[in-house]
Amino acid sequence: MQLFDVAIVGGGPAGSSCAAFCAMAGLKALVLDREKFPREKVCGDCLNPSCWPVLERLTIADPVRDLPHSKLCSVAFIAIEGCQVSLDLPSGPNCEISVKRSLFDDLLLKRSRELGAIVHEQTTVTGLKRNNDWEFETASGQTFRAKILVGADGRNSTVAHLCNLLPRHARERVALQAHIPLPRDFGNRIVLQFLREGYSGQAPVNETQLNLCLVGTPPTISKLRRWAEHQFQLPADQAWRTITPLTRSSVPSVHENLFFIGDAARVVEPFTGEGIYYALRSGELAANAIVKIVRGDDHKSALNEFSRAYAQVYRGRLWINRLARAAVVRPQLGSFFVHAARLNPSMLRLLTTKIVSSNACHSERSAAKRNEVEESR
Ligand SMILES: Cc1cc2nc3c(=O)[nH]c(=O)nc-3n(C[C@H](O)[C@H](O)[C@H](O)COP(=O)(O)OP(=O)(O)OC[C@H]3O[C@@H](n4cnc5c(N)ncnc54)[C@H](O)[C@@H]3O)c2cc1C
Repeated sequence: MQLFDVAIVGGGPAGSSCAAFCAMAGLKALVLDREKFPREKVCGDCLNPSCWPVLERLTIADPVRDLPHSKLCSVAFIAIEGCQVSLDLPSGPNCEISVKRSLFDDLLLKRSRELGAIVHEQTTVTGLKRNNDWEFETASGQTFRAKILVGADGRNSTVAHLCNLLPRHARERVALQAHIPLPRDFGNRIVLQFLREGYSGQAPVNETQLNLCLVGTPPTISKLRRWAEHQFQLPADQAWRTITPLTRSSVPSVHENLFFIGDAARVVEPFTGEGIYYALRSGELAANAIVKIVRGDDHKSALNEFSRAYAQVYRGRLWINRLARAAVVRPQLGSFFVHAARLNPSMLRLLTTKIVSSNACHSERSAAKRNEVEESR
């Protein structure tokens, strides 16, 4: 049985990014995903501007810009009673865009393949064993072996579950998502709409389709669906994709020859549309550490460096996430914010700028600077 340097379970943005960076550095990388790509995903399809530097390093920023997409110029927050406030988003080549996950994820996975990663689609990991190396089994009975294992298999991570690390979660909320015909005059904007039963996110993904997400609780989600059917004149048999949980405790991202990245490690509130960035960047950081470990560099310092850089990615951003969660779990509170922002938009502008500016690029740069200073000591 071939021994891989690294096996990555999950070929979403986290897994593909990790595999691509590992393969780029010459490692024998394996990716296993249970789906056949291209596949859709429950997501708002919005790409935060912080993603661009990682996509540049993967040399796929231009191919991403060539995919059918919408440039998003503004974000409108709508309160329960309909009052709204709109803020402009940064413009330019590194602006926020929306692109279907079927296209984006497929491009990323293809990039990891081009760089030399071995990718098996329609391959579900079902069992794990650890001797010196990792041995794992798939639903079809295949077995694989790798020195290092990466769980990049999303919020309901099988790898975390098989390692007894997956936190229990209450089924507090559930999300529905569909691509529907783009309403005339919708505009190049994101709409975040508070509703009595939860909230809805809307963004055009191309010239003809709108990404529509609904987030509610199990008892209220059917009311939200009826609201959407009425609002967007959808047929009663409209197909919806669904996902839960929307919140859960994090899984420590690093263990002995085992990493968790993206949603498998930490699930963030979808309202702020940052999950893809965290997935891409944590994949890149894990790859940096894995390359050092496989090459025989000091194991401990590689892990410490990863842990520091990983914490830095989230530093100063999680409070926004908590604030967003508070606002969406109690939509009346969210609506109150919209009313308050109409009177004084500076606070909302500050929060939005923090989320959609290339703020993360600044934190990447300051982390790099700090590392340089520490290394030079
Ligand atoms: C309603 C909603 C809206 C969102 N909107 C946005 C947004 O607009 N912008 C944004 O940046 N983020 C958004 N997010 C978050 C974003 O979707 C996630 O953060 C992102 O998909 C995480 O990427 P990942 O690679 O970690 O996991 P995933 O994208 O979930 O990929 C995991 C992969 O693992 C595979 N897999 C799972 N189990 C196994 C197994 N046992 N064996 C093999 N393969 C397996 C799956 O098939 C999948 O391809 C949203 C989330 C929700 C719920």
